[in-house]
Amino acid sequence: MKRIENGKQVKLITKGDILLLAAVAFFAIIGLVIWLIQPQGEVVCVYRNGKRIAEYALHKDGVYTVTCEAGFNTVTVKGGTVCVTEADCSNGVCMRYGAISRVGQSIVCAPHGITVKIEGNSGIDAILSWEFSV
Ligand SMILES: [Zn+2]
Repeated sequence: MKRIENGKQVKLITKGDILLLAAVAFFAIIGLVIWLIQPQGEVVCVYRNGKRIAEYALHKDGVYTVTCEAGFNTVTVKGGTVCVTEADCSNGVCMRYGAISRVGQSIVCAPHGITVKIEGNSGIDAILSWEFSV
């Protein structure tokens, strides 16, 4: 776009402005894509002695009871967070972890050998870790 000002041409939008706008738009789109894809990619995985015994969607509220010969743990998924709300283990440490919501975080119940872990889609993990490392 050009405008006549005091008899000479003045460029209103420079090449730098266009590049800046393109960069802003690019990162806005990447952010939107991550935001749109991530909730579907996150799952709550329950491991018992290293073996995956259950899997729940993190974006879907629910109360699940995991039982094993040692006892039970009640896993509550609510509003994108997960916590152990009830357990009959000897120390009750798992219930004191509070709610976790990020990929990679976990709740451990040592007496029962149970680990509740949030896992994500590997592709999205790669994008996020790249973004955080920059
Ligand atoms: Zn426990």
